[in-house]
Amino acid sequence: AVSRRQQQLPARQFVGGKVPLGLKRKGLRVLVTGGAGFVGSHLVDRLVERGDSVIVVDNLFTGRKENVVHHFGNPNFEMIRHDVVEPILLEVDQIYHLACPASPVHYKWHKTNVVGTLNMLGLAKRINARFLLTSTSEVYGDPLQHPQVETYWGNVNPIGVRSCYDEGKRTAETLTMDYHRGANLEVRIARIFNTYGPRMCIDDGRVVSNFVAQALRKEPLTVYGDGKQTRSFQYVSDLVEGLMRLMEGEHVGPFNLGNPGEFTMLELAKVVQDTIDPNAKIEFRPNTQDDPHKRKPDIGRAKELLGWEPKIPLHKGLPLMVTDFRKRIFGDQDSTAT
Ligand code: NAD
Ligand code: UDP
Ligand code: UDP
Repeated sequence: AVSRRQQQLPARQFVGGKVPLGLKRKGLRVLVTGGAGFVGSHLVDRLVERGDSVIVVDNLFTGRKENVVHHFGNPNFEMIRHDVVEPILLEVDQIYHLACPASPVHYKWHKTNVVGTLNMLGLAKRINARFLLTSTSEVYGDPLQHPQVETYWGNVNPIGVRSCYDEGKRTAETLTMDYHRGANLEVRIARIFNTYGPRMCIDDGRVVSNFVAQALRKEPLTVYGDGKQTRSFQYVSDLVEGLMRLMEGEHVGPFNLGNPGEFTMLELAKVVQDTIDPNAKIEFRPNTQDDPHKRKPDIGRAKELLGWEPKIPLHKGLPLMVTDFRKRIFGDQDSTAT
């Protein structure tokens, strides 16, 4: 049988000359759950820019209206305040499912990952939409393999303090594959590694936002544990490019989307000092339970199959985020203050 998607595509117009991976294809109806959040709002900007009709479904739990307010009044943009834990009826061609309280202080919300993802898969099945899940590098837990390849199954404590996030996303991946195999749904899975940039929550406890806000406020940078644990930090525009290539491409995944540049937390603190305030102090704090010791993506698969790799290194991306944080913390009138 010819799907609605297949019937519709030939009618859609391409704009511009050479179209890289269909990224400039015009006129799809796209649902972005969590679209008022940090990553989602940048994705929405790109989709609106290329001419799609975008619906954001967000309960504004960790997201902010300010992140998408510049689209209000655009007939191709709509925001629905709704919790994905409740069913919803919509008609779209693609679903980017990002809704999830991602930050550490909101880890309790396993339900969004499980019930929310189930509902969005049910929706995708009913309307035959392509479904992209934003999973996470946390599915690898405290990895015993380094760097992490997509074929690695992970090392996760199912009853640990982080497990509602790790296991929630692992269940979301399982559900996504169940609907793919069982209901023939077109799905895509991205495993996102630590991402930073403008519009990140200021006080949600993630390390880059903490350090930047602390340095700007002249507070000491709080390094947990000995600061030798590592993470890889990706600038948000690189991630959005990867998500769109994944959605438009022909491969289910999972794909690691992250920047392979690996930093200890002490090295990150140094980059923040160099960027904002060389005199910023460092204060050591006890680390949280089950904190992964290291994390770095192997992005070979995304490079080969999606033609994607990140372009913005930490020392280039961080100042872009600092400009945004300065404005939000001090207000425009004082945006040159440190
Ligand atoms: P975010 O908190 O800024 O965005 C999440 C959005 O989802 C928010 O706008 C929030 O209000 C919304 N939301 C939460 N629960 C909801 C619910 N029940 N119903 C409707 N909306 C709901 O976080 P983000 O960093 O933009 O993360 C986006 C996605 O990417 C998440 O799925 C997250 O797990 C994933 N991810 C992010 C990172 C990262 O470093 N930023 C890393 C790995 C994975
Ligand atoms: N669902 C939804 N919107 C839809 C279709 C389904 O929110 O347009 C929800 C539905 O309420 C259910 C979930 O998605 O809780 C899974 O739907 P599915 O049809 O796969 O399972 P079933 O309802 O048959 O158990
Ligand atoms: N971290 C830190 N200081 C902070 C916040 C976090 O040293 O103020 C550490 C944390 O212990 C972890 C790393 O930074 O080792 C990344 O933490 P984050 O919560 O940003 O991301 P995740 O652990 O989910 O990768």
